[in-house]
Amino acid sequence: MTWFEWQSAPKGDFAVVGDPISHSLSPVMHRAAYAELRLGLEYHAIRVPAGQLGMALEHLAELGYRGVNVTLPLKEEAFLWADRTEGIGQWLGVVNTLNLESKSALNTDAPGFLSTLSECGVAPGSSVMVLGAGGTARGLIPALVEASYKVSAWNRTRIKLDDFVWSLAIDVEVRDEADPSGCDVVVNTTSVAQSGGSLPIDWSRADENCLAYDVSYSKEATQFLKQATEFGLRTQDGLKMLVAQGALSFEWWLGKSAPRTVMIGAIHEYFKSNA
Ligand code: NDP
Repeated sequence: MTWFEWQSAPKGDFAVVGDPISHSLSPVMHRAAYAELRLGLEYHAIRVPAGQLGMALEHLAELGYRGVNVTLPLKEEAFLWADRTEGIGQWLGVVNTLNLESKSALNTDAPGFLSTLSECGVAPGSSVMVLGAGGTARGLIPALVEASYKVSAWNRTRIKLDDFVWSLAIDVEVRDEADPSGCDVVVNTTSVAQSGGSLPIDWSRADENCLAYDVSYSKEATQFLKQATEFGLRTQDGLKMLVAQGALSFEWWLGKSAPRTVMIGAIHEYFKSNA
């Protein structure tokens, strides 16, 4: 995927900023949406290292950019940059969507994820176990609690999870084991797939209707999802969440309904042509 350093970015309308940025699939889905709706807008991937967000955004605004999606490691810096944050981002202190004209911010990761749960038929009140205590889990756990799910969580390094749950004073059961029994959904937010490892989870204890949800996405199913499939469980990968958060950003910026099916189709096409 073509990307630019912020100092040499071309003119454009919207962008995704972060570091590294070459892997981002956001340009694929946003460009597909613009083409579908004949909007004539440009979306670029732009590398912005930590600590340079303010300068970079000033420069991008001068080039005509109206909004950006923000990815690692800038989500907290983006929250601090904004004059006003809407929705759950105010509480989380991290945002992934900025409007450069109004200097306002929104977190669409958490609501995007919640919308995919309801699409999978998992309603508030259901029991959700989150695996992990990194950046993604820290957004999803409070959002799940606020949306009235029964939340439990497990992390390899338990102390990180204990500290996080304690600091927010939220109602989350911290588990010693990644035990899926009694869960309606088990959400993997760990980066275990990147190291080729696997999680200590015994799927034979899961209820037959349990949904195994991995927020990571790739051409092939992750080990986590493959193992759940072997036990006959329903699975969901992170592509739906990626598109859901992108679609919510699109709608916040443009006030139009985003063509989600086209966006997800564009990513599948991209995977096929880059196989
Ligand atoms: P972080 O680096 O912040 O957190 C990593 C987590 O993974 C920690 O809890 C860490 O545990 C755990 N972990 C890492 N290796 C192992 C292992 N071998 N065994 C068990 N646990 C392990 O990552 P992020 O939260 O930023 O991202 C996590 C994943 O979520 C990525 O794959 C990313 O692509 C995906 N993601 C998907 C999105 C989407 O839209 N679909 C959006 C955002 C992220 P410990 O504390 O013990 O180190």
